[in-house]
Amino acid sequence: MKKTKKRPAWDEYFLKLAMLASERSTCPRMHCGCVLVKDRFVLATGYNGSVPGQPHCEDAGCLIVDDHCARTNHAEINALVQAAVHGISIKGADAYITNMSCTTCAKALIAAGMKRVIVFSDFHDTLATEFYTNSGVEIVKLKMPDTQINYDLTKYTSARKTKKSR
Ligand SMILES: [Zn+2]
Ligand SMILES: [Zn+2]
Repeated sequence: MKKTKKRPAWDEYFLKLAMLASERSTCPRMHCGCVLVKDRFVLATGYNGSVPGQPHCEDAGCLIVDDHCARTNHAEINALVQAAVHGISIKGADAYITNMSCTTCAKALIAAGMKRVIVFSDFHDTLATEFYTNSGVEIVKLKMPDTQINYDLTKYTSARKTKKSR
């Protein structure tokens, strides 16, 4: 029998979801995804992108202010906003983020009551680590999860076409 792929651990699973969310990002300077999770339940997701009704960086170019693109809301902010818009309580949740937060997003996640931030990539030139640590938010740094989605329909007998199937 063919060896089956490793089943991802919870932290790895939610980080992979954050990576998937980042695929929706529209700023070519940074693709970032964020997933807010509590009790292994996904509460909200976000990626960095333009605010509704405004053009994407990919179409209109970045809007650079002080060496940063100001056009988009960051992934963490968009996840927080999504929870707010839908009235979802996120206090005590964990934030899975593809990239270490900027200072502003770190402060927002702290204020929103995050318990842990789980991240695999660095983001330099930021006070995020200091803010998280001083506020007692645990930073969990993991290695980048497998970038592959291990989904192989043909491997499963119930999905295999038989002569009798349509
Ligand atoms: Zn941009
Ligand atoms: Zn940010």
